[in-house]
Amino acid sequence: MTATSRPAQMHAISDETRRTVDDVLDYARRRALYQDVPLDKPMTPRELERLASGSITTDGIGSRRAIALFENVLAPACVSTDHPGYLSFIPSAPSKASLAFDVVVSASAIYAGSWMEGAGAVFAENEVLSWLADEFGMPRGAGGVFVQGGTIGNLSALVTARDAARRRNREAGRPDPARWVVVCSAEAHSSIASAAAVMDVDIATAAPDAEGRLHGDAVARVLDERGDAVFAVVATGGTTNFGIVDDIAGVAAATRPRGIWLHVDGAYGLAAMLVESMRPAFAGVEHADSVIVDPHKWLFAPFDACALIYREPSLALSAHTQKAEYLDTLTDRPDWNPSDLAVQLTRRARGLPLWFSLATHGTEQYRATIAQGIDLARRVADEITVRDGLTLVREPQLSVVVFRREGWTLAEYEEWSTRLLEEQRAFVVPSSHAGEPVLRFAIISPLTTFELLSDILDTLR
Ligand SMILES: *Cc1c(COP(=O)(O)O)cnc(C)c1O
Repeated sequence: MTATSRPAQMHAISDETRRTVDDVLDYARRRALYQDVPLDKPMTPRELERLASGSITTDGIGSRRAIALFENVLAPACVSTDHPGYLSFIPSAPSKASLAFDVVVSASAIYAGSWMEGAGAVFAENEVLSWLADEFGMPRGAGGVFVQGGTIGNLSALVTARDAARRRNREAGRPDPARWVVVCSAEAHSSIASAAAVMDVDIATAAPDAEGRLHGDAVARVLDERGDAVFAVVATGGTTNFGIVDDIAGVAAATRPRGIWLHVDGAYGLAAMLVESMRPAFAGVEHADSVIVDPHKWLFAPFDACALIYREPSLALSAHTQKAEYLDTLTDRPDWNPSDLAVQLTRRARGLPLWFSLATHGTEQYRATIAQGIDLARRVADEITVRDGLTLVREPQLSVVVFRREGWTLAEYEEWSTRLLEEQRAFVVPSSHAGEPVLRFAIISPLTTFELLSDILDTLR
């Protein structure tokens, strides 16, 4: 301890801490209200080493210097995922209300793992989850929790599914299979394979059709082959690469008579079900035993949040509740404790930014904003179709548009992509389809315009 280190210094309400809080909130306000968000780009470790190292010292560099380092060096070395020209992977586009409220969540020190500690926050999160469950046609009693992302949401749902299958076997006096199996499409998201690896279970893939859509008959064939070893089937409500929605009703028709858990991975696409005209594409979701949708994708919330919803939350409690003497006072009560529904214990009230924005703007605003993204995807797909040298790989179903620049190699795509970022116009990385390099626009932000996309197409000549 040096002479200047007084234990309560970091927590005291002093002029110094007041200034720190003001400086940080001032920056947050500036960033939240940027008229034009800079796209920015990564730096190499060597560049950052040169420009930003040495910030951790025995006596501190002070908040002024630290925030300046962040604003001037570190933040510009991060690509802004909310830039209208950020079209790779799945962009994020938090509403201003949601990102501002994220600051409130941080300021409030809420433990949102238990009702005893976080009742108000948990209540508000549950209001959002109930609304979503209702939109998805799930029955009264459905409920869940906001977890970190789709990867943890999928893992938590599958852990619950396996636990339920084990319990059913125990109750029926049946032995468990030597290896458990989860069935999914060859087009399923990589997080399903990751969950299977963590759980040490096998994956059986069912073949999708030529469009990449999984149907019930393909699932039924796998289920007949693998029999009692299957504990869950995963259908995708909007693949990440193409935005293709599986034939969920068909898949449900295969799982339900067999009593097999149906999980719908709608991390990206299920938000589109909020748009009336898109509802038929998602028919069958109402039969799901569990679903996920990521608000940090197409529900305009900041990172990181995945809504995980179970048809029967009690099955998740059995699978996930942690038992420990120091937790007995929480777990011995009939309270709704979000920690008990997924792979987690301590949790941030990460559903609150979405709650605040939904409460502020109402649900219609969400439907209209999502619908606009779908319309824009169709419009740009039509534009690609009429342009020489460009080929649409597939009609977009949601807001992902995949296309090809005829005659280009992967190296040419990459060079073009680097230049686009270098010039701070857009962030579009090549993807691949059937072994061929392709380009992909993933549209989330309502600030992404047809003109911007059209300008990007112009650079492909
Ligand atoms: C993004 C995505 C995931 C993974 O979600 P994270 O929040 O990135 O963990 C899973 N499934 C699908 C279909 C996705 O699009």
